[in-house]
Amino acid sequence: MIVEDVRCEPAADGWRLSAAVRAGAELPSARLHFTVPGAENDRPPERGWLPGLDRPPGHDRLPEHDRLPERGWLPERGDAFLAALLMPAMRLGEDLVVDAPVSARLLRSARTVVDIYAAWWERLRPVRVTAAEPVEAPRGPAAVGLFFTLGVDSFYSLLGDAERRAEPGHRPVTDLLFVNFEQHAGPDHDRLLDRVRRVAGRSGARAVRVETDLRAFTAPLVRWEDFHGAALAATALALQGLLGRCLIAASFDYRHLPPYGSHPVLDHLWSTEALEIVHDGADATRTQKVARRLAHSDLALRNLAVCWRDRPGRNCGACEKCLRTMVALESAGVLGRCGTLPRVLDLDRLRDVPMGSADARDAMREAGRDAAALGRPDLAAAAELAADRHGPFPGTAAAP
Ligand SMILES: [Zn+2]
Repeated sequence: MIVEDVRCEPAADGWRLSAAVRAGAELPSARLHFTVPGAENDRPPERGWLPGLDRPPGHDRLPEHDRLPERGWLPERGDAFLAALLMPAMRLGEDLVVDAPVSARLLRSARTVVDIYAAWWERLRPVRVTAAEPVEAPRGPAAVGLFFTLGVDSFYSLLGDAERRAEPGHRPVTDLLFVNFEQHAGPDHDRLLDRVRRVAGRSGARAVRVETDLRAFTAPLVRWEDFHGAALAATALALQGLLGRCLIAASFDYRHLPPYGSHPVLDHLWSTEALEIVHDGADATRTQKVARRLAHSDLALRNLAVCWRDRPGRNCGACEKCLRTMVALESAGVLGRCGTLPRVLDLDRLRDVPMGSADARDAMREAGRDAAALGRPDLAAAAELAADRHGPFPGTAAAP
């Protein structure tokens, strides 16, 4: 697989970083892109910090707060394409050649990523990765990004960042990155983006929307559950001229770490000399995240979006992920205050909810254990029954 002709060009008031990709027959030759549109990122956010928090010293006004994206955010380098195409190349069993400057550190780490991928997933074959120019990545303005979906995991990381703002040396999150991997468009998607902007504004951060065809481009070769960590890292690497540090919110906690696309042993390996990529928030289960932080944040409870089954940003209230989130909220005693899910949990519905995968069943068991620990044996019993009723499953994983 060959990556070449890396270019940054103006697009839709913003900037587009793209590269030509040539590979085996299973992947048509095409251009892969990461685009930061301008117009949607142009609105000044609502002012104000999270309730109860003072502005951190020296951050009276965040750098470049309301400015349009700049060309310099998306340097003409191959780092993003290395991260994006390593797993697809391994699936095809083709060496990956990046004909562009690539971080020497990232190039070294890629060997370890190959080892981990090959150990976790038999269908991925070890390949060699080479670059035209292994060079140190130049340092940018060192903004701090957090991938943000309005879900439990990303709110936990955002609220954790707010808690740590008073700590000496802490670098607060300055940019919430919303990546439209599904290439959604339309009124529901626009409303979802408005909510991301509102949360960003209330958090003293800027919302940055990124468009990319990466998911559609790689879908014939890789499973999203295995790949999405690399997809997030690739997006951060595309924005390497803006970011000095970027957080990926953990999906699982340290006591339960199955092979998964975003993982504490994996995410940091995508770092370069200029950009540190951090796997954040694996210290808590989903219910613990809700009980510790989301339950105390009206901003989170009013804007929580966990379900991608129907329309962007709309929680259906009926799928296993919605119901599992409702178990967590009810266990923490705040379901009635959540504005985006049904305010009452129907236990019959919970017991009967179809499970899409073995991972979903594991996640439901975990929610049940946490409910029991929080003094809700009724929720625990219903969640346990739901997990037991449906199975066994083929080896497909569900996003937690
Ligand atoms: Zn749902």
